[in-house]
Amino acid sequence: MKEYYLNVIKFPMLVSLSLTVLAVAFFGMVFGSYFKLGLSLSETVIYIALFAVLTVLVSTWVLNLISTHSKIHPRWMEIYAKWMLVHIYYNLASFLGFITFQKRQQIQESFLNFNNEIVLSAARQIHHTNILLLVPHCLQNSECKIRITTDINSCAECGKCDIADIKALAKKLNVRASVATGGSLARKIIQDASPDVIVAVACHRDLTDGVQDTWKFPVFGVLNERPNGPCFETTVSLSTIEFAIRKFQ
Ligand code: SF4
Repeated sequence: MKEYYLNVIKFPMLVSLSLTVLAVAFFGMVFGSYFKLGLSLSETVIYIALFAVLTVLVSTWVLNLISTHSKIHPRWMEIYAKWMLVHIYYNLASFLGFITFQKRQQIQESFLNFNNEIVLSAARQIHHTNILLLVPHCLQNSECKIRITTDINSCAECGKCDIADIKALAKKLNVRASVATGGSLARKIIQDASPDVIVAVACHRDLTDGVQDTWKFPVFGVLNERPNGPCFETTVSLSTIEFAIRKFQ
């Protein structure tokens, strides 16, 4: 329970803490200089610029927090908030996590949960027709004779791995499903399909990279399980995938 709780709140907690530390450092610096010798013109200009940056960082973070509950309007503001989330706040949280010895995977999982909340809240009450289900190649049984790249329909449905069930689920929910063997292929599949929403399955690292790489697309991440170690005959919860797809339909 504690682990689950941390996986949800760790990322927003780290970002909020980073911004608090930056604000305290900034005001400490300003008041320190002011009470020591007073502020010179150049110092005043620098502090005004830093204050503007801090204000932008804090207000955009508040915007991101709001976007986990309601869709941001107008569209350009939504795009701006998302850009800041994946390019600035994720790195801020990672840096603070690194210097305070936090588990990287926990920060990534919390970031993905946070991103999922934003994607779900933006998609609320919208019926999407072009949903792409993107799954990793490592779900496939290692002894399978068929090499499945991109087209999941090549699976012969022998049932030795989750690919067969995913193929059936995609058919049942009438969504396009693709298998990606790597980041470049995943990007190509996404560009070709240009989906409204992507439900992506992968490990912590690949999902985080994928959300960052394709930040303009709404990506709902589902973590795979790795009972046989990383990148080898992984599995995934079909019910979580179905839950996610139905939320967007
Ligand atoms: S379910 Fe499909 S992908 Fe998996 S081993 Fe069987 S034929 Fe291969």
